[in-house]
Amino acid sequence: MTVRVPAKVNLQLSVGPRRPDGYHDVVTVLHSISIFDEVVAVEAGGSNGISIAVDGEAPPGLPLDESNLAWRAAQALAEYADFAPDVHLLLRKRIPIAGGMAGGSADAAAALIACDALWGTDLGREEMALLAARLGSDVPFSLHGGTAVGTNRGEILTPALISGQFHWVCAFVSDGLSAAAVYAECDRQRGSDPVPPPQVSEPLMAALRSGDARAVGRQLTNGLERAAVSLRPQLDLLLEAGRDAGALGAIVSGSGPTCVFLARDEEHALDLAAEVAGSGQCESVAQASGPVHGARIVEAESGAVGL
Ligand code: ATP
Repeated sequence: MTVRVPAKVNLQLSVGPRRPDGYHDVVTVLHSISIFDEVVAVEAGGSNGISIAVDGEAPPGLPLDESNLAWRAAQALAEYADFAPDVHLLLRKRIPIAGGMAGGSADAAAALIACDALWGTDLGREEMALLAARLGSDVPFSLHGGTAVGTNRGEILTPALISGQFHWVCAFVSDGLSAAAVYAECDRQRGSDPVPPPQVSEPLMAALRSGDARAVGRQLTNGLERAAVSLRPQLDLLLEAGRDAGALGAIVSGSGPTCVFLARDEEHALDLAAEVAGSGQCESVAQASGPVHGARIVEAESGAVGL
């Protein structure tokens, strides 16, 4: 069973005050883009248990044990369905590790769908969403895909109206950033200043509804950007390189350090990608478009399965 699952970018991320439980209330506009991980789930052959491996060389920072989010998802499903798990999970990672693109959450969502199909546990939508939210704030969106407004910790989703496709350039830098460290830096920078409750950006929603890329570019906001940049000052130069190259908008993705740039169209994205890569401020670049579907089973027979 092979499941393909997209990365996300936050078109808006407004961070409220830190709550007593340590989380922050957020209002975020989540948008899935065409950079995909795949999770392949196969029966382990009666060995009774869960095992995990990565296709090719393991990227630094990727745990290959029970702390992997895909493993935890399989375990959570087995416990929920009162089923003795028997599965080998193979990860094909394309989403950067600790890159602010919800790669771990994506793999958890993909493992839920793959194991549910493999084991015939046949969870309904609501049960699946409930399990997903328990696994992590971004897991429900990785199941859902498209474009949606996330509230509370980001796991309560309302689909957003959006017209057309948007074209992006993602710039990857080496060494991820821990989301917890970025939130802590954000709190430190705010000090004791009062923090207003987060609210969705109506100008952004209007721009998405009308499919106006220029207006979307002007409305991209990320409340964690200042914190991410202060932990990784090089990101300022990277964002500037994208703006200088004519991006309609330039933003750190989630907690970073990946930066994303909005292009006018596919052709512009190609030029923008070349210029950003040539700036020397990042390790690699990728073009992507969005929105795309959330985690989905793909044909197991399709060879390279679309990568
Ligand atoms: P977010 O955007 O949701 O904050 P992220 O994209 O910044 O997340 P992830 O790639 O999800 O970060 O990884 C966060 C941490 O989770 C990593 O440092 C890694 O140790 C751990 N992790 C566990 N399972 C996975 C997985 N399947 N893929 C990536 N990271 C994983």
